[in-house]
Amino acid sequence: MAVLSYMPVNLNNLIMRNLIMLLILAAFTTAQAQQPATAQTPSPADTAWTSKVIKPDGEWKKILTPAQYRITREEGTENPYTKGNYNDNHEKGYYYCVSCKNPLFSSLKKFDSGTGWPSFWQAYSTKSISKSTDNSLGMQREAVSCQKCNAHLGHVFDDGPQPTGLRYCMNGLALFFIKGNPTR
Ligand SMILES: [Zn+2]
Repeated sequence: MAVLSYMPVNLNNLIMRNLIMLLILAAFTTAQAQQPATAQTPSPADTAWTSKVIKPDGEWKKILTPAQYRITREEGTENPYTKGNYNDNHEKGYYYCVSCKNPLFSSLKKFDSGTGWPSFWQAYSTKSISKSTDNSLGMQREAVSCQKCNAHLGHVFDDGPQPTGLRYCMNGLALFFIKGNPTR
């Protein structure tokens, strides 16, 4: 008899313990689901650069405005002080590639160059951009493009401020700004 009465008690304990575990798990899951939307605030991590974005021209035409397409896919240049080109933007945040959302620059490295184009003295990461020689217009310049999707962004010159001495002269229409608190 001692054995018989022992078994159900133990079984009850087991069920109770499982129930408590389930309740804890349920509470935890609910708490996670109720996390505020701030979790989605952009904070570019290195994982953002893991893949290339390759699309045919027709696809880019669907995504971009004609001006954005001319700059990013046909190496165009916007006029200085073009409306909406972020030249005069002094807010804290990140500048992404308008084509593929790759983080390119941060407000911490932006400076007023007086050229009418948004200018930076360093890219957000070594993985943000790539450089190539541009011999068009009878000059030799260093062209800057998005490392992820190859969008043309602008040029880099060596008359920028310290510590790099570089001036990344960007087409603002190739960029997409999102407010944030960059640390670099
Ligand atoms: Zn891109």
